[in-house]
Amino acid sequence: MKDIRPETPDRKTILSFLAGHKTRMKLSLTICAHCGLCAESCFIYVTRGRKPEYMPSHKMIHSIGKLYRKKGKVDWETMEEIKDIAWRRCVLCMRCYCPLGIDIPEMISLARSICRSQNVLPAFDGGDET
Ligand code: SF4
Ligand code: SF4
Repeated sequence: MKDIRPETPDRKTILSFLAGHKTRMKLSLTICAHCGLCAESCFIYVTRGRKPEYMPSHKMIHSIGKLYRKKGKVDWETMEEIKDIAWRRCVLCMRCYCPLGIDIPEMISLARSICRSQNVLPAFDGGDET
């Protein structure tokens, strides 16, 4: 099938999503102490060899954090990487615990919403998450 994607993801739309959650997103990314305490509460991290890329904080930083740092200016390859994190590495089970109160599922859910806005979706996505 012919690829009908524009040359780059729609930065304006991505920025509008980021702007709508700016305060909480900025706070979450700023206060994360990289302590790793959230890791053991994530069954995906525990059952997949405790690799860093499955740590909740890592997933947050490399999905919504990346979109935030790059101010929405990302390429399709980056969007595909974020998709992989937001769906394959997280099921939004809400079990990760952060002593500082960071809501990692909320941040990953936001990354999913941004992926959806760009039509970057996993093959199995039924579109029923928030
Ligand atoms: S999200 Fe919380 S528990 Fe996880 S590394 Fe950051 S501060 Fe530590
Ligand atoms: S919401 Fe995602 S990061 Fe948090 S425990 Fe569940 S799978 Fe892990």
